Parts: sequence; C-alpha cells; structure tokens
Amino acid sequence: MAKQFDVVVIGSGPAGYHAAIRCAQLGFNTACVEKWLNKEDKTVYGGTCLNVGCIPSKALLDSSHKYLEAQKHFADHGIKTGKVELDVPTMIARKEKVVGQLTQGVAGLFKSNKVEGIAGTGKVIAKNKVEVTGHDGKTEELEAKNIIIAAGSVPIDIPPAPVDQDTIVDSTGALEFSEVPKKLGIIGAGVIGLELGSVWARLGSEVTILEALDDFLPAVDRHTAKEALKIFSKQGLDIKLGSKVTGSKVGKGAKKGVTVEYTDKDGEQKAQFDKLIVCVGRKPATANVIDDSVGLELDQRGFVKVDDNCKTNIDGIYAIGDAVRGPMLAHKGMEEGVMVAERLVDKKVQVNYDLVPSVIYTHPEVAWIGKNEDQLKEEGVEYNAGQFPFVVSGRALAAADTDGFVKLLADAKTDRVLGCQIIGPSAADLLQIVAVAMEFSTSAEDLALTMFAHPSLSEAVHEASLALHGHAIHIANRKRR
Ligand code: FAD
Ligand code: NAD
Repeated sequence: MAKQFDVVVIGSGPAGYHAAIRCAQLGFNTACVEKWLNKEDKTVYGGTCLNVGCIPSKALLDSSHKYLEAQKHFADHGIKTGKVELDVPTMIARKEKVVGQLTQGVAGLFKSNKVEGIAGTGKVIAKNKVEVTGHDGKTEELEAKNIIIAAGSVPIDIPPAPVDQDTIVDSTGALEFSEVPKKLGIIGAGVIGLELGSVWARLGSEVTILEALDDFLPAVDRHTAKEALKIFSKQGLDIKLGSKVTGSKVGKGAKKGVTVEYTDKDGEQKAQFDKLIVCVGRKPATANVIDDSVGLELDQRGFVKVDDNCKTNIDGIYAIGDAVRGPMLAHKGMEEGVMVAERLVDKKVQVNYDLVPSVIYTHPEVAWIGKNEDQLKEEGVEYNAGQFPFVVSGRALAAADTDGFVKLLADAKTDRVLGCQIIGPSAADLLQIVAVAMEFSTSAEDLALTMFAHPSLSEAVHEASLALHGHAIHIANRKRR
C-alpha cells in the first residue's frame, strides 16, 4: 500500500525545505523527496543553494577577499604579514565544511520538525501520487493530499562550449578548482560570472569574461551598471561586451587548456584559457518530474505554470522556487514555500513580487530593489532621487572601503520610497533597511527622520534619504530646501 501523507514536497532546496518545515509546523504529515547525493553517496538536503550555489560561492568569496586583503591591503593598516601564501585545497575544504554544516543542519531541522526525508527521485504520476525511485532502483508510491514541486534548476549548456567539468566547467566545477588557473575564461557576465570571476581573479587568475550582450548588467540601471563596470575592470576583470562565442577546442597533453572562438564588433577572435566557466543562465529542472498523463501545464521554457499563489492548473499541486517564473533566487523560493504552506491552512499570506531584493556578492556588492531610474523614466513616473557616496562615509573611510554609493528613489508627489540601488560595502545588508521600509510603504522623509547609529555604513542610506529632499549634511545638495 502507498504511504500516506498530507503533503509531499519534491526537492529540498531552499524552496522545498522551507515549504516542508512550515507544513510540518502547521501540523501536516509531511515528506520531502530528495535525490541529491554528496561525494560520499549520502543523501544531502539543501539543493543547489546549500550544496553548489549561494553558500559555497560565498565561502570562496569570503576566503578570497581575506586573501586579497592580507596580500594587498593589510600593510596600509600597519599590519606586516611577510609573504602571504595560498593553499587552495584548504580553502576548498573549508568551503566543503561550511556546506556540510548547513546541509546537516537541514537534516536536523527535518528531524526536529518531523518532516520525513525520503531519498530518491520523485515523479508526480497522478493528482495525488508521487512515485519515488530509490538509488537502488526500487520504486515506492506515496499518496498525498497536496504535492509541492520544488525541483529547482540546472545550468544552461551552450553547444559552442560543451561542459566536461574538467577544462570547460559550469558553476559547480568552478567551485572545485584544485589550483588557480593562470588564464581563466568565463562565458556570461551575469551574477555567477561576476561572483566566481571575482573569486579566481582575487586568487591570481587573469580573468576574461565574454558577454554576448552589448549592455552590462541590464537588470540594473545604466548609472549603477556603469559604476560597477568601472570598479570591476579596475579590479582586473576583463569584461568583453558584445562577444558571442562560436566555438571552442579543448587541447590535450602539452597543449592543455581551451581555445575559444568568438565574434565581436571587430570580427572573429580567438582566446586561449587554462579553464573556461560557462555561466549563461539556468533552466528549470522539471524534465521527468511530472508524468504527461497528469496534465500539468508547463510554459515553453519548462517552468511549471503557476498563479501568484503558486497554484498550478491542477488542484492540490503547487510549484515553487526556480521551477516557476520569476527571479531564480533562494529567498524568492523560500517565501513561496512558506506562502504555499500557510495557504493550506487558509492564511492569506502573499509574496510581494514587487519587492524581491537582488544582490551580486562582489566587492563592493551591488544590490537593488523596487524600481530604478531608467524604469521610472520609461513609466513616466515623477520621482526624486537622493544619492550618497561612500567616499564621504566616516565608517567606510575607517574601513578603507569607499567605492560606490546609495541611491534612493521616491515618488515626487507622495514621497513614498519606490526603489533603491546600492553599490558598496555590505550593500546586501544596507538594502534590507530599504526593503523593510518599502514593505511598510515608508516615505523618504520617514527614513530621514529615523535615527541611524554613528558611525555605521547605514548612515549612507540615511544621508541618501536626506539628499533626496536637499537636506544632506555631509555632501553638497543638488537642490537646497
Ligand atoms: P534548488 O536549490 O535547485 O533545489 C532543488 C532540489 O530538488 C535539488 O536538491 C534537487 O536535487 C531536487 N530535485 C530535483 N528533481 C527532483 C526529483 N525528481 N526528485 C527528488 N529531488 C529532486 N541565489 C540567491 O538568492 N543568492 C545567492 O547568493 C545565490 N548564489 C548562487 C550561486 C551559484 C553558483 C548558483 C548556481 C546559484 C545561486 N543562487 C543564489 C541561486 C539559488 O541557488 C537558487 O535560486 C535556489 O537554490 C533555488 O532554490 P530551489 O529550492 O527552487 O531549487
Ligand atoms: P545570469 O542570467 O545572471 O547571467 C547570464 C549572462 O550570460 C547574461 O549576461 C547573458 O547575457 C549572458 N549570456 C547568455 N548566453 C550567452 C552566450 N551564448 N555567450 C555569452 N554570454 C551569454 O545567469 P548566471 O550568472 O548563470 O546565474 C544563473 C542564476 O543564478 C541567475 O538567475 C541568478 O539569479 C542566480 N544566481 C544568483 C546569485 C545571487 O543572487 N547573488 C548568484 C549566483 C547565481
């Protein structure tokens, strides 16, 4: 007989494990099916984010930042270190340890919340049925009143540069290099290209990023993107915009490495790299998760079609996270997981899709939320902008971390905050101040009237809100009122 559950979640990434834990907390008998095996062939929870995404990439970003600081900047603070040496295997092992701690943490949370973790590959075979194929090939059936699909996403491949996880790698392979590639090529100047490009550039790689589009970071406003490009180029990332990769050839023996062919405005080009990272986006991992007979609707790109509440076209089946429309971000999936659980007990929780924070964890970080100036101009919305550069922030100067600015935008008539773009130290955390403010429909004046701790980087947000009305204290105001 099939095992009975109130809820079966397929996938234990941030979307799936949040959904499963909240469902169990609300009293539902919940199972979470997960197929991921670690290098020791053990089932691990946490999906892309914990195993090969957000967490390991940030571990390497932090390690490489410390290395760069020790190598280039400690001396400015009067700290003498002698020769700073790099031990890549230890750095990679530390990253693995962090991953292990967090994935075991999710297993512990499943246990304490009484979520049943089931190892194997899940497939929805009927409205209320999931078939699980174990790693030994045996199958079992689970019956559930509700099914939540949280199968996540996988990297997109491109035919001119097929990934072999040795010379040509995807983001997972790029977290595993055993030594620093002398010349590193990257296809795609998106979030992964910039973050992992920064890691290896800080550790000593000569990094070239080939980006097909002529625009850099199209999701960000032109002013912020221009500043980011200037800073990253200064850091040594050679970002070649308008470069379309047409082919690649992996060498053997003494000619190891890869030759990449691409075209740019000057015609056909060639470049030679020791390693090449392909990071041109991700696609939903929905193939083989749903039997055709179920009649679940997918869109042309393979995303499960859902409404604003993550309901699919079939009653009792929900889909969340990277498997559905919207930005592929861990926190977006987490909120969707909790929303679906709450809605099972009729609590009308709603994800605010207008306020999804985005962050690129380079140094300085680039973070944004809500509308940017380009969008407001295009929509014909009258707005006021307040900007504050970190170069005059006492805290940023004390830390010798002065690149970038905070830009705050508010409606010209109502003063309601409409958006914020930050490029600077701790931009992710600073942005969250504005995210909370926007969630509560705060005005720029409310932020201006709030007391901020001194000296803190957050004062840059405060000064930007003051600058918006021409009241900034530490910079010359464009307009005085
Ligand atoms: P996933 O995390 O992909 O999890 C899906 C899970 O489902 C996987 O464990 C998979 O094994 C399992 N699964 C799939 N099919 C089945 C099946 N049939 N049966 C059983 N199990 C199945 N986002 C951020 O917000 N911040 C960041 O800093 C960030 N950094 C990133 C860095 C990198 C290098 C990468 C690659 C991604 C990063 N992301 C980041 C994106 C983030 O990882 C994803 O948005 C997030 O993991 C999506 O969560 P999810 O739960 O929808 O899917
Ligand atoms: P991305 O969409 O951020 O960037 C891909 C880039 O590759 C784009 O600039 C695109 O124009 C370019 N591109 C596409 N095809 C190309 C080609 N053939 N040749 C050259 N350039 C090409 O995708 P990503 O960097 O792979 O990241 C995947 C997802 O993971 C993103 O959706 C992102 O949200 C998520 N992620 C988030 C974070 C974070 O939140 N800090 C970090 C890493 C990844």
